[in-house]
Amino acid sequence: MSNIQDKVVIITGASSGIGEAAAKELASKGAKLVLAARREDRLQKLQEEVEQSGGTAIYKVTDVTSHEQVEELASYALQEFGKIDVLINNAGVMPQSFLFKKKINEWDMMIDINIKGLLYGIAAVLPAMRKQKSGHIINLSSIAGHNVYPGGTVYCATKHAVRAITEGLRQEEAISGTQIRTTNISPGAVSTELTEGITDAELKQAYDELYQGAIKAESIARAIAFAIEEPGDVAINEMIIRPTTQQ
Ligand code: NDP
Repeated sequence: MSNIQDKVVIITGASSGIGEAAAKELASKGAKLVLAARREDRLQKLQEEVEQSGGTAIYKVTDVTSHEQVEELASYALQEFGKIDVLINNAGVMPQSFLFKKKINEWDMMIDINIKGLLYGIAAVLPAMRKQKSGHIINLSSIAGHNVYPGGTVYCATKHAVRAITEGLRQEEAISGTQIRTTNISPGAVSTELTEGITDAELKQAYDELYQGAIKAESIARAIAFAIEEPGDVAINEMIIRPTTQQ
């Protein structure tokens, strides 16, 4: 039996891309899913698809920039399934731009979703996981969490923050007397809706070219499943997954 069977997994940003692919992969291995994002029509459709394939999923419309909504999401998971085994902190946005263009609203959005939203997720599930003395928090960073490049400064800063938070959480939980695992996943170019949020025409064109060589979201979903499938005393802390031909 897969170590994913009957695990309760919350996925933020489940309405498209990597989150949606992870939902399908984990459902096929017997997870009980709690799907979260802002677009209810997408969540509903995904829930139906999962259930038609014999899986288990519920959903809750959640904006991760709201601490209250993220707390309600965790409470809903506990109310429906009685435990939270895994949180996949996947919701994220990438409106790339050069600093001199002063797209301050986009900077705020990236900081609010990619960093604060991720922290709200950790805050919401950690008390239950500590009580259970087990759990797994999987955070989506990026190659941009390892490198910095022109036009990506703020996005890179948020994804570096994700790695710092994941490592800090790992160290804190390692001495907590629990079995709470952390996994940081850093994808390269993956074919999803992420680049649609780029409003800078020049950078949008550059990304459209780069993303011609992108890999499928399912490849990241398989990596997520691999990390969860390991026994509880084994933590896959860091994974970089990129197209073989990406520089
Ligand atoms: P998508 O744009 O396809 O998915 C992003 C998801 O985040 C959507 O489901 C969206 O749902 C959700 N989301 C955005 N804002 C919020 C919010 N405020 N509250 C709740 N959910 C929100 O992109 P990906 O699947 O590619 O992105 C998933 C993660 O992977 C991101 O963190 C991204 O940075 C990371 N990543 C992606 C790479 C790629 O090349 N695709 C490379 C490296 C990292 P909704 O709009 O319905 O709320």
